[in-house]
Amino acid sequence: MDKNIYFFLGMSLVAILHSCGPSSRSQVISNVKSIPLDISHFNDTKLYEPISVVKCELSRGAIADCYKISVTSVPHEHKMGPWCPTHIDDSKDKGGIWFEGGKVYDVDGHFVSNIGEFYKDEKWKLYNDDGSIKVTVTQKACEGAAKPRVEEIYKNHCVECQPSFYHDHITTYLIPKTPFYNTTGGRFGRGEPVGIALNGVNYDSPAPTEAILKAHTLAPLDDCGGHVNPHVGYHYHAATGCTVEVEQADGHAPLIGYAMDGYGIYALLDTNGQSSINLDECRGHEDATRGYHYHVGEPGGNQIIGCLSGQYGSMKVSH
Ligand SMILES: [Zn+2]
Ligand SMILES: [Zn+2]
Repeated sequence: MDKNIYFFLGMSLVAILHSCGPSSRSQVISNVKSIPLDISHFNDTKLYEPISVVKCELSRGAIADCYKISVTSVPHEHKMGPWCPTHIDDSKDKGGIWFEGGKVYDVDGHFVSNIGEFYKDEKWKLYNDDGSIKVTVTQKACEGAAKPRVEEIYKNHCVECQPSFYHDHITTYLIPKTPFYNTTGGRFGRGEPVGIALNGVNYDSPAPTEAILKAHTLAPLDDCGGHVNPHVGYHYHAATGCTVEVEQADGHAPLIGYAMDGYGIYALLDTNGQSSINLDECRGHEDATRGYHYHVGEPGGNQIIGCLSGQYGSMKVSH
């Protein structure tokens, strides 16, 4: 008998024991329908090597068959950037987006020049007297600014890193073939991977906006919700509808990616423009066709999903 079966038996026993008690949440463990990850959805993805199956240890110690998905983190269906406009007269097509209070704002020249007023803090000044915007143009500058303790000289800058600085990064995901529902929940820590979009780009945990703003820096996303950091390269903090989607025959929101626990991540809206109701704290729910799955949050919410409901795999970046 392999370890997976022991795990299943163990979990069933836990579920049976708990089902005698008052908690409805633990009863769910035995009932949740988990659909295997479908790797054919990665057919167009820029893979570093073909997807394979390996044994891997999940977050709560289960040994599982996992897909090993190695990607270059370069989207094939949309371009990356722009992020920072370069002049305070620039229109919104020269810059990306920023989110605040659940809303998305275009980062155009006016937004940058007006940011002190926007945040009610006169220490902001992201531009020079000639109207040019202070942007972290070089790799040294981006790395001095894109970290928790922003170097003094890069405070009051619009921060962007170019994908070309990190073109040799290979990101490898180990994600269970079939998810294990677990109710571990819990918020994502900084930099913890949330999952992978079907184009192979990383869904990252919420951007550390407090630290970014405290240094009077702005780290815009492009219109597709992505930007670059020195650790993982290009990654998303929002899903804005740019990336490859798998339509659902019943009009349910399309599949756009997979979470680190192997459950599908679906877009926010169904074909009637309605968002899902009865989502749990992780933004998940279950239906007969898709089993348990997630729906992404609003683009302005700085949150792809709330947490992971299953035991999750791991992500590693090498270069
Ligand atoms: Zn980021
Ligand atoms: Zn749904």
